[in-house]
Amino acid sequence: MGIPENIVVGSHVWVGDPELVWIDGQVLNINGDEADIQASNGKKVVSRLSKLHPKDTEAPTDGVDDMTKLAYLHEPGVLHNLEIRYKMNEIYTYTGNILIAINPFQSLPDLYDANMMKHYKGATLGDLSPHVFAIAEAAYRAMITDEKSNSILVSGESGAGKTETTKMLMCYLAYLGGRVASEGRTVEQQVLESNPVLEAFGNAKTVRNNNSSRFGKFVEIQFDKYGRISGAAIRTYLLEKSRVCQISDPERNYHCFYLLCASPPEEKEKYKLGDPRAFHYLNQSSCYELAGVNAAQEYLSTKRAMDIVGISQEEQDAIFRVVAAILHIGNIKFAKSEETDSSVLEDEESKFHLQTTAELLMCDPNALEDALRKRVMITPEEIIMRSLDPIGSTVSRDGLAKTLYSRLFDWLVYKINVSIGQDPTSKFLIGVLDIYGFESFVSNSFEQFCINFTNEKLQQHFNQHVFKMEQEQYTKEGINWSYLEFVDNQDVLDLIEKKPGGIIALLDEACMFPKSTHETFSQKLYQTFKDHKRFIKPKLARSDFTVVHYAGEVQYRSELFLDKNKDYVVPEHQDMLSGSRCSFVSGLFPPLSEETAKSAKFSSIGSRFKLQLQQLMETLNLTEPHYIRCVKPNNLLQPGIFENMNVIQQLRSGGVLEAVRIKCAGFPTHRTFHDFLTRVGILAPEVLLGNFNEKDSCKMILEKIGLSGYQIGETQIFLRAGQMAELDAQRARLL
Ligand code: ADP
Ligand code: MG
Repeated sequence: MGIPENIVVGSHVWVGDPELVWIDGQVLNINGDEADIQASNGKKVVSRLSKLHPKDTEAPTDGVDDMTKLAYLHEPGVLHNLEIRYKMNEIYTYTGNILIAINPFQSLPDLYDANMMKHYKGATLGDLSPHVFAIAEAAYRAMITDEKSNSILVSGESGAGKTETTKMLMCYLAYLGGRVASEGRTVEQQVLESNPVLEAFGNAKTVRNNNSSRFGKFVEIQFDKYGRISGAAIRTYLLEKSRVCQISDPERNYHCFYLLCASPPEEKEKYKLGDPRAFHYLNQSSCYELAGVNAAQEYLSTKRAMDIVGISQEEQDAIFRVVAAILHIGNIKFAKSEETDSSVLEDEESKFHLQTTAELLMCDPNALEDALRKRVMITPEEIIMRSLDPIGSTVSRDGLAKTLYSRLFDWLVYKINVSIGQDPTSKFLIGVLDIYGFESFVSNSFEQFCINFTNEKLQQHFNQHVFKMEQEQYTKEGINWSYLEFVDNQDVLDLIEKKPGGIIALLDEACMFPKSTHETFSQKLYQTFKDHKRFIKPKLARSDFTVVHYAGEVQYRSELFLDKNKDYVVPEHQDMLSGSRCSFVSGLFPPLSEETAKSAKFSSIGSRFKLQLQQLMETLNLTEPHYIRCVKPNNLLQPGIFENMNVIQQLRSGGVLEAVRIKCAGFPTHRTFHDFLTRVGILAPEVLLGNFNEKDSCKMILEKIGLSGYQIGETQIFLRAGQMAELDAQRARLL
């Protein structure tokens, strides 16, 4: 992006820094292709000329609200602009149509109050300061005027502010499309109240976010022909099941468990609950409370939200019985039996929890114990009951807890959808997507694989859109533009999802073949993708594999891939629960037909997820998209701290830098004729004095200077990357 020819002794530049990514300074000396730079922070740095970027010394000190207004569009300019705005509590900035939102980590109530909503209503994007409301407004107006569905895609890493942003978008849409003076439970109220319900059951405290959503969500808000909200549908993706049984300090389990432990005394009595410290599924971590959250109040407000979304009292009772049962299940412990390898309940306490679980789930305690401790083996000769050892029984116990929880969560989503109701006559919708961003940890497993697959899909969609928008703008101005080096990520997508032969297909094959292990699966990957540009077998790795994602390389551990890909309910658990005397519980486990019971040996989570994504993309492709990129400025979750390295990595993986790159490959600097003359007219005073129109004056100046490759549109000058810096440099020599 940098054009080193402009850089001379005395130039103001940005130079790379291992810690701050970019620092600014001034060139002291140039020797061949190297420059000595005096950085403004006191450092002296030597850098290759080609690595430097010119610094715009005329850029407004309070930044610009749209990156495309930067005279020099490049990475350091983008980063610096965000930083100075963030320090002034300006958390929103556009890059063209993309909204970048930096988490303020402090409440900014004035920014979202009713006055602000009123302010944005009817405003055109770009006329007012950047804001989530402006994006929602643009989506709504586009839906009404173009009679087309729109979508708003919110992305970012955990804790970046996606869910908060989504909620504000929904509030604003409810404000625009809500009915005045309506009574009872309106659709928009139900849509809004679905958030606290889903958050109670699907969010948890993690290292990265105290209220982290452990599932992806797409909310479709349907509108009638008057532009009023008439229905909604919520789709969720991949709830993290493992959290139910396994947490580590300082994280927590799903909020609902703690809320229920803080319920009023008579309820605690009913569910035989008390101190959360007494339960294995909660006491693996010593974090029980959330700063600023009163669990008892939260329990009541969750129930109120459940009322509003149409979950009846009996259903609520059954839901919390299941939640309590899961806690009791976790306290059932197994020991080795004296005579054999098989397991027995460890102590009286375990017997109590087993009994309580059976009562809460309304099933037979003996059947429950058998389902946990025994497996039915069918041989050609006979049917035998085999006992599991203590480890096997514990795995079985945790499996039961996870199955119950995930069925419960699915039921909540289903119920919310049924009670809000779909509007079959609705013509247009606005879809809001709140989905996990790209993840790359020290150790990455199947979850990260699915998450990153999602992000590859969305990235492709994003690139195509940004690309199209650029093209439209050039066409409007009558400019020729062909951007040939458009990098597509189709090859990564093929690697992952191609059928047959992609990673997911190979994983399914491995899962169906009884003798497979993660090692044979990895060997198969190594063989198949030996020459694939996007696949790497890490040196010394025996079963790890690396995928070169658009946002960087991620090394996956294949150990648990096979297990995690199998969506499997133990038939003994299924039989026991479908026999529950509680219709809610048995309803979560409808009996399998003979046929599915036989064929459903294995159902693939990966393939199902792939299908869900495909459907999501099909929905999105019918909409006009809007993008919001949430950025987490620091990992301390503190206001006012802006960590350059952290931010730049997110801009990179969120595709913001790619969008900048696409712009830079075209004509990143646009200036109206008038602005252009004001800035560089001094290079040709004779033109300014002559009596020409602005467009002709611009042409004459550009010809005189001898730039090449720029274009003159209908209303604006379009300059190539670095050309504005070149003009400024010439001007500086004159002054
Ligand atoms: P994500 O969904 O991306 O993981 P959240 O939306 O849950 O992140 O945000 C994490 C936390 O950051 C929130 O609980 C809140 O404290 C804070 N936060 C995020 N966005 C805002 C905002 N616009 N204003 C104030 N605080 C915010
Ligand atoms: Mg979230």
